[in-house]
Amino acid sequence: MNKKDFEIIICGAGLVGMTLALLLSKEQINVLLIDKNNKDSFLNPRDARTTAISQGSSRIYKNLGIWNKLLKNAQQINSILVSEGIQTNNLDFDNRKVGEGPLGFIIDNKILKKVLFKEIIKSKFVDFSENTEVVKINNAERSLVVNKKKKINYKLLLAADGRFSKIRFHAGVKYFYHDYHQNAFVFNITHSNPHNGIALERFFSTGPLALLPMKDKKQRKSSVVWTVDTNISNKKSFNQNIKEEFSKRYKEFFGDIINFSKFQKYPLNVFSCYNSCKENIIFVGDASQAIHPIAGQGFNLGLRDALCISQMITEFKELGLEVNNKNLMDAYERKRFIDKTALVSVTHNLNKLFSNNSFAIKLFRRLGLKIFSESNYLKNQSMIYAMGLKNLEL
Ligand SMILES: Cc1cc2nc3c(=O)[nH]c(=O)nc-3n(C[C@H](O)[C@H](O)[C@H](O)COP(=O)(O)OP(=O)(O)OC[C@H]3O[C@@H](n4cnc5c(N)ncnc54)[C@H](O)[C@@H]3O)c2cc1C
Repeated sequence: MNKKDFEIIICGAGLVGMTLALLLSKEQINVLLIDKNNKDSFLNPRDARTTAISQGSSRIYKNLGIWNKLLKNAQQINSILVSEGIQTNNLDFDNRKVGEGPLGFIIDNKILKKVLFKEIIKSKFVDFSENTEVVKINNAERSLVVNKKKKINYKLLLAADGRFSKIRFHAGVKYFYHDYHQNAFVFNITHSNPHNGIALERFFSTGPLALLPMKDKKQRKSSVVWTVDTNISNKKSFNQNIKEEFSKRYKEFFGDIINFSKFQKYPLNVFSCYNSCKENIIFVGDASQAIHPIAGQGFNLGLRDALCISQMITEFKELGLEVNNKNLMDAYERKRFIDKTALVSVTHNLNKLFSNNSFAIKLFRRLGLKIFSESNYLKNQSMIYAMGLKNLEL
């Protein structure tokens, strides 16, 4: 990176930042993509998580021409069973009811990151700068300070620097924050029976447990995102018996557990900017809103941010307008408002509702689940929304 002036800079080559760069690259728009990590960490990522990619998000990758590369490694989700605790009277979301293909796909984050990064380095329109950490911004001057000294200038800065965004901090953007006092344990299990593309979400008062089907020849592998309150999960005794604790909640759903992978722990919180734009900075993905993983929707939401802003930049440029245009920021803010607000509040309140042990709330919850399970309309509408097929723009 020898140049000093750029029209568009994307800070953060996470899943959202890379996809955004590829969306702009498809429209032959040049961008500088910077990340504090080095190339090797993208080609050999350490992330042990899987991501549930919705049907709508898979279509974004189809349009980018890279879905086939991802699909080879993706397990389709045919149905999702939801229950309170280990009860068996499940609420069943079946993809055949909507007729739009699978509800979503589970992909290993390592594969997703590697495939996206290989496209980034192939692109003529993306200038990728590794080992480049933003330490300060001076938005009045439209400049970033990277690696302590070097200054680079932008007309438009797309901040995709994740949940703990430094750009959000330096720009002084206000946000909603809540610590859930929960940890998510992420690991994979191999089980004796095939999963047949079924995902499971069990709600316990100590936190939800999700089992997500993984691509595997015999369909005997699932990834687990298990949320547990910190007052339990930080105890030594819990960590010593974690496999037994998990097994009590799993209840041999897909038969015996043959193998556990290593456990990784993520403390859970929500960050949500009150405004997604400030002067010449636009926030996307987790930098704009980092939500609870209860519904497996954070990345899908961030992808819709990326799609929206890439389409708007393209339109403005086609009209011969500058990208550092206030109308562009206002329109982005307006278009993303409902989708963002709805998911931040649904995930926040769903977690609160199911973590509450009071008798009245328990009754309310059971009634709610019953009404839901008996209403095809409610089930179909929520499937369409979770599949990312509903346009929630103002
Ligand atoms: C346990 C768990 C399970 C989840 N499961 C799902 C799921 O199934 N489906 C789903 O849709 N979502 C899921 N999510 C959410 C999803 O992981 C995130 O929404 C998504 O990864 C956010 O991507 P991002 O690119 O916005 O941010 P990040 O992935 O955080 O990327 C930010 C990038 O910015 C770079 N960066 C940061 N600071 C700087 C700096 N100062 N200078 C330069 N570079 C910088 C970082 O190196 C990184 O590469 C889950 C989240 C958790 C915690």
